[in-house]
Amino acid sequence: MARLGSWIEPFPEGIFVRPADAWVDPSQPKPRALVTHGHADHARSGHGAVWATPETLAIMATRYGEQNAQPVGYGEAVRLGEVDIGFVPAGHVLGSAQIVLEYGGERVVVSGDYKRRPDPTCAPFVVAPCDIFISEATFGLPVFRHPDTGSEVDRLLHRLRAEPERCVLVGAYALGKAQRVIMELRGRAYDEPIYIHGALERLCRLYEELGVPLGELRPATGAPKSELKGKIILCPPGALNDRWSRRLPDPITAMASGWMRIRQRARQRNVELPLIISDHADWDELTQTIREVAPKEVWITHGREDALMHWCMTHQIKARELNLVGYEDEDD
Ligand SMILES: [Zn+2]
Ligand SMILES: [Zn+2]
Repeated sequence: MARLGSWIEPFPEGIFVRPADAWVDPSQPKPRALVTHGHADHARSGHGAVWATPETLAIMATRYGEQNAQPVGYGEAVRLGEVDIGFVPAGHVLGSAQIVLEYGGERVVVSGDYKRRPDPTCAPFVVAPCDIFISEATFGLPVFRHPDTGSEVDRLLHRLRAEPERCVLVGAYALGKAQRVIMELRGRAYDEPIYIHGALERLCRLYEELGVPLGELRPATGAPKSELKGKIILCPPGALNDRWSRRLPDPITAMASGWMRIRQRARQRNVELPLIISDHADWDELTQTIREVAPKEVWITHGREDALMHWCMTHQIKARELNLVGYEDEDD
């Protein structure tokens, strides 16, 4: 009998599904690509044809222009070569999916990036039982335990109200994190205009077109200093300390990222108010997910795999590291 999953071949540049003649999240242009979600390290430009959810394809079109797009909605099935393929929600960003592959009586799930906590901007993660679960491990160490998102947003609002002469400038990745922070604020009845850096505009507009209402957003560039006092401004992390932010009224520098758990990282970016808001599973969510999915084997694509490999072994689950390159997730 062939080894379990022998038809799935990991290469440094991605996962090749041989009987479908297709790649999952390839980091180099390929004739046929299955893409889990729109983040640039998973969704590259230049593929011959792309199978992904309609939302992911819309995000890719916004970034790369039109391409040969093959939309597959959640719950729909397609057949490529001899493989039955489905997309189920991964709870990571709008449109993000785990890809379910069935061939020769075996079921393999490629999770892409995922998280388990509620996110008002996207569909929640769905447990898809399988023989092989191919997982990320961005925060695959027991020290990574993300706090409750609501309490982080409360800290932001508390600080904003404590210093009304200043503004709070939040660094947030342009796809997913920025819109999630806005929706978390709206969910806590914050209905003031939120000011955004120009680099966030296109994706915020796209989220709204795709049915995620973000409330009143205003461009931060060009707004008078007096108007910005006591307000929340969002920008990409790279703009936190650049010239652009110097014209804001004495900003309290914040950043929304799972990496804010590490003090050193907050200091490197001169972040005064670190907000631990992550779009990746923390240690407890990773192990909970593997328990629920109950696979025979776990293959780990990228991240901190050692502790998770060990955890799998002590739970009688065979584990394997794939060492794929090009998935960064530094920008979570
Ligand atoms: Zn991602
Ligand atoms: Zn990623």
